Amino acid sequence: MKVIVIGAGLGGLALASGLLRAGIDVAVHERDPSPHVRRQGYRLHLSDMGIDALTSVMAPERRAAFLATAHTPSPRFVRFDHTLAGVEVLEHSGLHLSIDRQTLRESLLPEVAETITYGTRLTGFQVVADRVTARFDDGTTVTGDVLVGADGINSAVRGQYLPHARIVGTGLVQLYGKIPVELAEGMDNVFTAITGPGHRVVGVAPTRDYATCSFGARAEDLPAGLNLMTQDQLRSLVMDLTHGWHPLVRRMISQWYDVFPLELRTSVPIPPWQTTRVTLLGDAAHAMSPAAGAGANLALRDAAALTQALTQALAPVLARGGPLIPALRSYEQEMIDSGFAAVRMSAANGARLLGQDPLPSS
Ligand SMILES: Cc1cc2nc3c(=O)[nH]c(=O)nc-3n(C[C@H](O)[C@H](O)[C@H](O)COP(=O)(O)OP(=O)(O)OC[C@H]3O[C@@H](n4cnc5c(N)ncnc54)[C@H](O)[C@@H]3O)c2cc1C
Repeated sequence: MKVIVIGAGLGGLALASGLLRAGIDVAVHERDPSPHVRRQGYRLHLSDMGIDALTSVMAPERRAAFLATAHTPSPRFVRFDHTLAGVEVLEHSGLHLSIDRQTLRESLLPEVAETITYGTRLTGFQVVADRVTARFDDGTTVTGDVLVGADGINSAVRGQYLPHARIVGTGLVQLYGKIPVELAEGMDNVFTAITGPGHRVVGVAPTRDYATCSFGARAEDLPAGLNLMTQDQLRSLVMDLTHGWHPLVRRMISQWYDVFPLELRTSVPIPPWQTTRVTLLGDAAHAMSPAAGAGANLALRDAAALTQALTQALAPVLARGGPLIPALRSYEQEMIDSGFAAVRMSAANGARLLGQDPLPSS
């Protein structure tokens, strides 16, 4: 059996790793020319869900080496107002780690490097009988038994397969960057939100080497052309927008670096679809606003669950043309249920904390 995976993001890499370890032929196609060309964000919060998924798809020694790079913050979400007066504390159960996204990618890459073809952007696919052929922008094609769209929020696989599935804006924009970790000393939590007037929020989350610092606001409260602004211009814009906030917050903004703007978007949940040999995982299926810190954890969980569906349940019978579709259906049921539940939870958290627009009803 051959599995074609579109996208070498967190979910695609984890799936390739799991399938290879299970002895299944896998070909990953990634549009970027190399793993290092694109800014993909900095710190990620991993919960038990993501950590368990990594345990099932990564070689134990590689996983242990990766986990040794993690920071363990206090397992809680803390909210202050803009004067740093406490507003709420939510204690989390289970294990919560703060990790660097690029370190995770680099830990997953070596085992699967040979399966990845870079610089190949999927443009379409075709299912004929029990085979699926993917087409790429360089004119090449590849044929296999299963096609997995792990190609993120703008998924081309989803665009062709489920054209009714929508991605919408949340009404929010975030400026995302780093600060020296010492500045976040009193905020060593899974996430600290400092909420000010008008749905303005500064979010802080430390790793071992730096802390991420984000500034979120309603899009209409920010000027156009953020992408064109220099680091100095972005810092001084947010200094203006946090005028009168606690001096520590202002010090954080004054020392902010590697800042980039991001329009926050979300998928709109849709009813389950008919299962075929084309499937999706992670953001390609259920992209969400970051207000639940769950997107990467779910992408990793999907990868582990899909690996399991394709191996444990079916490996012995697939060679004889066994029940591939029921295995994919059971993967999709759980992936769709848990993925869209998280989309709704992120939207609810986002509405409460950030002023996110409600999800459209359909
Ligand atoms: C600022 C920020 C902070 C976040 N923090 C957290 C957090 O703390 N915890 C958490 O759980 N989640 C977090 N998330 C969400 C998380 O990053 C995503 O949910 C996760 O990366 C999704 O993984 P994925 O593999 O589905 O997609 P991606 O990581 O987006 O990977 C998709 C890949 O597909 C490739 N691709 C796209 N189109 C094509 C094509 N046509 N052909 C070939 N390749 C293609 C892309 O180049 C990319 O490499 C955060 C997101 C952001 C933006």
